[in-house]
Amino acid sequence: MGDSGLIPPAEPDAPWDIVFLDRDGTLNERLPGYVDHPDRLVLLPGAAQAVARLNRAGCRVVLVTNQRGLATGALSWPQWYAVTRRMSGLLASVGAHIDHIEVCPHQVGTCQCRKPAPGLFRAALAAAPWARAERCAMVGDMPSDVTPAQKLGMRTVLLGQEAADVREAVDLLLQQDALDR
Ligand SMILES: [Mg+2]
Ligand SMILES: [Zn+2]
Repeated sequence: MGDSGLIPPAEPDAPWDIVFLDRDGTLNERLPGYVDHPDRLVLLPGAAQAVARLNRAGCRVVLVTNQRGLATGALSWPQWYAVTRRMSGLLASVGAHIDHIEVCPHQVGTCQCRKPAPGLFRAALAAAPWARAERCAMVGDMPSDVTPAQKLGMRTVLLGQEAADVREAVDLLLQQDALDR
């Protein structure tokens, strides 16, 4: 499910149309259990700045996240929104923002959107008819993040392999040396 209508086109000189990001373990610390309170949303070092660099490069940034707790009751929608507001506030403090969020709130095996299914990516692309999958990239910490994106023809960066963290992944995607940061 999307958060709001259409995603405005990327800037004409952007190196990517859309850079998709996983949330838990990519932008913020993976915790035991759910991030069910704003205080439990702790951004990883350099993650907010990495999003800001994507913003400045003119790419659209889309979050794609599985939140099965919304199906089991471990996470309520008000908690989800409170955590999302916290994330947006932390990002905004360094001038960063997420353009669009796609969340799978479903139980395993009951939908077409829980990663590694491609539904979240397809929904975002449907909201961005100007975007081409070959000009999109996905960064995540699990194979289930990157396989659906690969199948759609996107560039992918699996953390722990090609890059240690989202900072390094954005370095790769923007072809910048770590020293320019
Ligand atoms: Mg993750
Ligand atoms: Zn789903």
